[in-house]
Amino acid sequence: FWDGIPSVAEDEMFAMITTFKKDPFPKKVNLGAGVYRDEDGKSWVLPAVKKAHALLIDSPDLNHEYLPIAGLAEFTNSAAKLMFTEESDVIKRGQVVSTQTISGTGANHLGASFLSRFYLFNGERQVYISRPTWVNHHAIFANVDITPVEYPYYNAETRGIDFDEMLSTMNSAPDRSIFVLHACAHNPTGLDPSREQWTAIADIMLAKGHYAFFDAAYQGFATGDLDNDAWAVREFARRGIAMLVCQSFAKNAGLYGERVGALHVVCKDDQATKKLKNQLSLITRVEFSTPPAYGAKLVNFILNDAPLYEEWRRNIRTMAGRLIEVRKELYRLLTEELKTPGNWDHVINQIGMFSFTGISEAQSKRLREEFHIYLAKNGRISLAGLNTKNIKYFAESLDTVVRG
Ligand code: PMP
Repeated sequence: FWDGIPSVAEDEMFAMITTFKKDPFPKKVNLGAGVYRDEDGKSWVLPAVKKAHALLIDSPDLNHEYLPIAGLAEFTNSAAKLMFTEESDVIKRGQVVSTQTISGTGANHLGASFLSRFYLFNGERQVYISRPTWVNHHAIFANVDITPVEYPYYNAETRGIDFDEMLSTMNSAPDRSIFVLHACAHNPTGLDPSREQWTAIADIMLAKGHYAFFDAAYQGFATGDLDNDAWAVREFARRGIAMLVCQSFAKNAGLYGERVGALHVVCKDDQATKKLKNQLSLITRVEFSTPPAYGAKLVNFILNDAPLYEEWRRNIRTMAGRLIEVRKELYRLLTEELKTPGNWDHVINQIGMFSFTGISEAQSKRLREEFHIYLAKNGRISLAGLNTKNIKYFAESLDTVVRG
């Protein structure tokens, strides 16, 4: 059977990390994966996380037992409140079923599996995802037998959201369609709808009975504030739109490799809640039995200790703040110092971890091959890879490839 196994390409982002590590060029720059780096280009263990770790290690209750199938209940309950707020009706009424997942990817997978099994598709088994979106969305849905179809999102000409086209697709989609929405800091475009636009989206979702599949991988990274960044999710919940939320603590707590996340499904009523809890556990049980404990315990400490929680919020502001400074400096270099041809307003108008530079695949390839600057083929750069030491080199290289 070995000969029948088809070859597939390695994952673009992970392959890039390996090539980058091997590259001996001294000025190489990694702008690939969306991982935060500090001013020295180093990964940053958040001070709040360090303190939570110390508390955990010293805790008399520390052990390495299995967590329950649905994870650490205190963590998932606190995580749900972080997303919806304690005062929200969906939380107060006990409508939210929360399950710990293998970070945001696992939440997406579990959410997709749940819909694949139980959603009443109106015709085709399909889900609408933004064009473009996080590449994994395509495979995550295809993997559970749901066909991903795209709705317009990015307009290459205006370098903004193709809002009218997006709404018109939502309007013409069959009733009760599923739409994947990025809760904030859209990956890869860095473009989020305004509150007014979210309200218009919510109106259509309600009128058409669409289902909102929220992917919240960057809460805190869009505006530096956890509450601001959950606005759309909370507004949709308040308005009673059928929804689930995939939550990740990879980015906002810097716990990438610990795989801390949760899936929150808003249920119709008590009976649905009970049924769903067991159904989600059934899926988890066969896939990985129980989720990893360490990261969830850390986040649990942070969410349930007021001073630690405040410190975490400050840490998030530090990360988001540095990325905003990077945007400003890149913009200044391109527009004032180098006078790079074209309009670069999008560099400062976009938000979050990424900038969708608008350069072509060929230009992105040139940056990589000639200048040892590693970025996604679609021109997306992770701003976290830039700092005062390498930003000029990047801006000059970008200027060179843009001039052609
Ligand atoms: N959703 C989006 C939009 C993402 O960008 C990412 C990370 N790149 C994830 C989900 C999942 O990340 P993780 O599994 O590391 O939490």
